[in-house]
Amino acid sequence: MSWQHIRGHEALVSEFAHAFRRGRLAHAYLFTGPAGVGKRLFAVELAKTLLCERAATSDPWQACDGCASCKLVAAGNHPDLAIAGRPEDANELPIQVVRDLCQTLALKSAFGRGKVAILDDADDLNEAAANSFLKTLEEPPPQSHLILVGTSAQAQLPTILSRCQLIAFRPLPDAVVRDLLRAQDVAEGTLLERVVKLANGSPGQALALADPELWDFRGALIQAIARPPLDSVALSQQWMQFIEKAGKESVNQRRRASLTLQLLLDFLHDTLRVGVGAGPRSAEADELPLLRELAGRGDPDGMLDVIERVLEAEVQVNRYVQLVLAIEALCDALGRGLQTGTAR
Ligand SMILES: [Zn+2]
Repeated sequence: MSWQHIRGHEALVSEFAHAFRRGRLAHAYLFTGPAGVGKRLFAVELAKTLLCERAATSDPWQACDGCASCKLVAAGNHPDLAIAGRPEDANELPIQVVRDLCQTLALKSAFGRGKVAILDDADDLNEAAANSFLKTLEEPPPQSHLILVGTSAQAQLPTILSRCQLIAFRPLPDAVVRDLLRAQDVAEGTLLERVVKLANGSPGQALALADPELWDFRGALIQAIARPPLDSVALSQQWMQFIEKAGKESVNQRRRASLTLQLLLDFLHDTLRVGVGAGPRSAEADELPLLRELAGRGDPDGMLDVIERVLEAEVQVNRYVQLVLAIEALCDALGRGLQTGTAR
């Protein structure tokens, strides 16, 4: 039963089941694939299976979900499962996080079923942190499993790649994303369909986008940028107010800022499409006049500059530049770029 809630990765589940039953699981894995596609969920489920106390019964591959071990894994505090990632206020994974994780992995198993360590944000390993992994990767403690969770193999140093078994997670089919959204009580309708289209096969992304307030803000944002004159000061104030409504935690504000930028990018890409006579990818029919108005104002090169500027803001938002600075600078650039056709 326990693997059944891992949706859309059935082939990987059976691959792992096969290796597990033959005692052939690797000591170190690198999971790659788009954010929000279920890699971390899969890693935790694997840890649960490995640590389950009743797993020796009929089918050891299925964790029982009832023993103390399974419950501790589900609650996130099993002593034999260590999960670490990039601290909220850091640009990279500090070497100390990796050292602590390796030390924990080397400790004696509290429940006697081995140890599992999961490292999130593995894309952000710097060279020193990656190097501090090498000893553990080369001589893994007995009965230990290490799972690195990143997005792409290209982000990893060759020293890590050559010592981990690479597992690529693919985007999920839209139908699966739609089902998962319904299971999370996202109502049927335009919002659900738009979100499925935009999420590119990532249920995590789809769920984050399925926030009606986000779409209300998007409406105001595209009105502001498509209809001159653009008041960049007012826009950045309105934008920051919306971002701050996500709560005091910086991580929530950054997540919301990033979602607004994705919606803006999507709208700008639709503008380019409309500008060359194609249909929009995700905008609704009633937004066509706005798209045409914006497309008619500048040349495609200018629009590409604006898009590049939004991409830069996205990097800044994810790289801990002060949010207000990133948004103000972007609004300035939008004000300049969308009036004159160039962002610089
Ligand atoms: Zn169990």
